[in-house]
Amino acid sequence: METETDVIVVGAGPTGLMLANELAAAGVGVTIADHRASRSPQSKAGNLHPRSCEILDQRRLLAPIAEHATARLPTGHFAGLPVPLDFSVLPTRHRYQLLVEQARVEEELEASLGRSGVAVDREHRLTALEQDSARVTATLDTPSGPRRVRCTYLVGCDGARSTVRELLGVAFPGLPGRTGMVAADVTLSRIPRGADERRRHIGARFRFGSRSAAMLHPLSGGTYRLLFPAPRQDVAKDAPVEPAEVREVLADVYGDEAELDRLLIASRFTDASRQAERYRVGRAFLAGDAAHIHLPTGGQGMNLGLQDAFALGWRLAAAVRGHASDHLLGSYETERHPVAARVLDNTRAQGELGRVTTAPMQAMRELFVELVRLPEANRHLAGMVSGIDIRYPAPDDRSAAHPLTGRRAPDLDLDTAEGPARLTRLLRPGRGLLVEFTVDEPHYGDAAQRWSDRVDHLVAAPVDPVDATALLIRPDGHIAWAVDSNENRGDTPDASLRQWFGTPESN
Ligand SMILES: Cc1cc2nc3c(=O)[nH]c(=O)nc-3n(C[C@H](O)[C@H](O)[C@H](O)COP(=O)(O)OP(=O)(O)OC[C@H]3O[C@@H](n4cnc5c(N)ncnc54)[C@H](O)[C@@H]3O)c2cc1C
Repeated sequence: METETDVIVVGAGPTGLMLANELAAAGVGVTIADHRASRSPQSKAGNLHPRSCEILDQRRLLAPIAEHATARLPTGHFAGLPVPLDFSVLPTRHRYQLLVEQARVEEELEASLGRSGVAVDREHRLTALEQDSARVTATLDTPSGPRRVRCTYLVGCDGARSTVRELLGVAFPGLPGRTGMVAADVTLSRIPRGADERRRHIGARFRFGSRSAAMLHPLSGGTYRLLFPAPRQDVAKDAPVEPAEVREVLADVYGDEAELDRLLIASRFTDASRQAERYRVGRAFLAGDAAHIHLPTGGQGMNLGLQDAFALGWRLAAAVRGHASDHLLGSYETERHPVAARVLDNTRAQGELGRVTTAPMQAMRELFVELVRLPEANRHLAGMVSGIDIRYPAPDDRSAAHPLTGRRAPDLDLDTAEGPARLTRLLRPGRGLLVEFTVDEPHYGDAAQRWSDRVDHLVAAPVDPVDATALLIRPDGHIAWAVDSNENRGDTPDASLRQWFGTPESN
């Protein structure tokens, strides 16, 4: 069989589903294929961080996912330290992490995709890809024989052991795993005190036994997730987890307080951390775990993948419509590679802080506890782990002049001619937005008019003061250009409009 589409997304985990949603919402033809017959029954991730809540909200996807949440925590954690990271001070409307299982996030993303008329092609395993300067051809093994999909772009969202990455010959350097760990979903016939408190700080959930350590937290439906370093480190990563292994850890860490009822599902993982050397080879891209893996501490991996997808979707949609410069597609890697590199660094640091096996490490951990009590240090780590402090590098010196360039646009309350509005809601259609706050004297209507097929123009009064008189905002909510005083009025948005939104029709 042979089919054609604009973009093929390989892998229907959270990253692939988010990307397919972005493409379908932008009216781009998309095929999404996964080799599994159904979604994975085990939720690896269990949280959405503030930046993920923002982007999902920006596409109306947050509300249905939030219905499955078991709690909203106003805190995050770093290395399981007993002092929480305070998310309540972050400059966002979503000053919390949502505790929601990965399976529910995937379920809602897939349902939303279905409403756009796109179904996941299951039992479709990518086995080969070829590309030339005009197109990519993907070969998939399906139950009814091989299928070839001819398309303009291909994205590998196929997880840590990515076939796409391998077929593209992209190196995946980093650190091998040193510690084997287990994630076990269980029911308990005896439940330790405090284990049920959903809003309990994760740092307070770590317990140490004489030989092992563990963290227990509640999932939905009376089940619990138990995370622990495997008692025997010489066990293969794909070896089944036996109930005896779980019982041994429960007995050592919780004594009589806990008793295993049933081991529902379990998997092994390690602290390996690696990052793809490149995120793009010609017409093929990598996103999510296919591009980066790391220890899940702080709950950042799925969040990073969702945000990669959000960063790539509007770029590919623009390219399919013929509006993207090569700079636009290349900037996906320029912007997202450093973001993941920073997460690899912070999770490596957290991994070391979690190894309290020696007196010097214990001293280091105690020192960190002191530091995290300082509001400024706490705020710094909260901004990092939550994804809220991401600032993309300015593409040139001119735009570097304004401190807001590259940052997320704040979700301002605005007074517009049509009544009150929230800035990020105005970004819901996935278009650019040029907003001017000088209501009596707007300046950039002519420039906006030239890109009016892809950028909206709005003149509005912010309810609270803003450090700018005009902002050009990209479909992913990041600020492409800003101006803040009459002295700077010579700096028009034209160059940034061209850079991020392509050549105007009337050029
Ligand atoms: C124990 C554990 C706990 C975690 N906790 C958290 C957390 O709390 N918060 C957080 O943010 N992250 C967490 N993570 C990380 C998170 O689960 C991953 O980062 C996330 O699943 C990555 O999503 P993805 O879509 O990129 O890849 P995956 O979820 O791995 O999806 C890849 C998909 O590609 C498919 N596929 C693979 N090869 C092919 C092929 N050749 N052809 C077709 N399809 C293919 C697979 O079937 C799969 O469905 C945790 C991870 C672990 C191991």
